[in-house]
Amino acid sequence: MTTEDQNQLERYKLRISERIATSIGYPFAIDFNYEELYSMLGYHLNNVGDPYIESNYDGNTHEMEREVIDFFGDLFSAPRENRWGYVTNGGSEGNLYGLYVARELYPQGMVYYSESTHYSAQKNVHLLNMPSIVIRATEGGEMDYDDLRASVQLHRNRPAIILANIGTTMTEAKDSVSTIRQILKELAITSSYIHCDAALAGTYLALLDDNAPFNFKNGADSIACSGHKFIGTPIPCGIIIVRKNYKDRIGRPVPYIGSLDSTISGSRSGHAALFLWYAIKKMGKEGLLMRAKKSLDLAHYAEQKLNGLGIPATRNVNAMTVVIPQPSEQICQKWQLATDNGHSHFICMPGITKNTIDNFIEELSRDFKYGVLPAKQQNVKA
Ligand SMILES: *Cc1c(COP(=O)(O)O)cnc(C)c1O
Repeated sequence: MTTEDQNQLERYKLRISERIATSIGYPFAIDFNYEELYSMLGYHLNNVGDPYIESNYDGNTHEMEREVIDFFGDLFSAPRENRWGYVTNGGSEGNLYGLYVARELYPQGMVYYSESTHYSAQKNVHLLNMPSIVIRATEGGEMDYDDLRASVQLHRNRPAIILANIGTTMTEAKDSVSTIRQILKELAITSSYIHCDAALAGTYLALLDDNAPFNFKNGADSIACSGHKFIGTPIPCGIIIVRKNYKDRIGRPVPYIGSLDSTISGSRSGHAALFLWYAIKKMGKEGLLMRAKKSLDLAHYAEQKLNGLGIPATRNVNAMTVVIPQPSEQICQKWQLATDNGHSHFICMPGITKNTIDNFIEELSRDFKYGVLPAKQQNVKA
């Protein structure tokens, strides 16, 4: 390695450590600490294959992975005797898996998802070559159920596969699984499947409510969640939970690894499952819940404070995401704000402090784009 390479590495390390202080636009927790596991970075840990089948290769963390799946299975009220899942590379892979299972069950199925859905859905239905219909969404980002009803009615001879958002990417809106089930019932749709994209909000919504409206008891057939978002990990990861009898249509035995090829990727990160296992054990349900409440409180605080300053901020129920009118390019860049259609958002993820939010709001209130002055100056003028 040359001196220039060394310098490049040092510059990069510094940039990343500084960047984190003003990164509030994308949903990942920053308060994790995995120091105790650092020695494990000296090993290649590969969770290839089905986590429930011990394979020829055992340099894996399948044992921990199964505990992670059980934790989320319990959290989402998945039937004990009929659940299966694995640790994915992220929420997108979980969505792909849910739709894959649905397609294997209902090859003639039509997929419905709202226009507020994460971009992975469109890519996934394309990859799976499934026909799909985009449903309108309300201003707040929730599925327009009248539009869903009309669309399903038009195709009522086909099984209905619905992707429900449990926290949309832009506004953290939640689709109602019970309303969707009700519509399917009214239209006498006998074959249907509901996959819940709960990438960001799934974990804390289920922690806040023992009987979360999107859980398996309430009608979900599969749920995908990200691991690096609310829980927080250095490596992107996620969790997919499905009803086991549905998944059993998928796996193919592979003699080479002595396991069932029931996952999407072959080699999978063993570290990701280990990190998730560690975080769950370390914080426990109680710790995770407290952490969620702290973030929700901070989001509430930010929303109130912005509105008090005359900056219109909105937030869906139990959301860490606060939506504001799009500020200047400079602010968006500095604070890494995601922007869509004249709106931007920031997300009060675990580890983001009140101090950071105060600094952000201070800058925002001085932003020329809003044409508002800080409250103090407004008073002086009046
Ligand atoms: C982040 C997110 C995804 C994708 O998850 P990745 O872990 O980035 O693959 C999907 N859906 C929603 C609603 C998300 O917030």
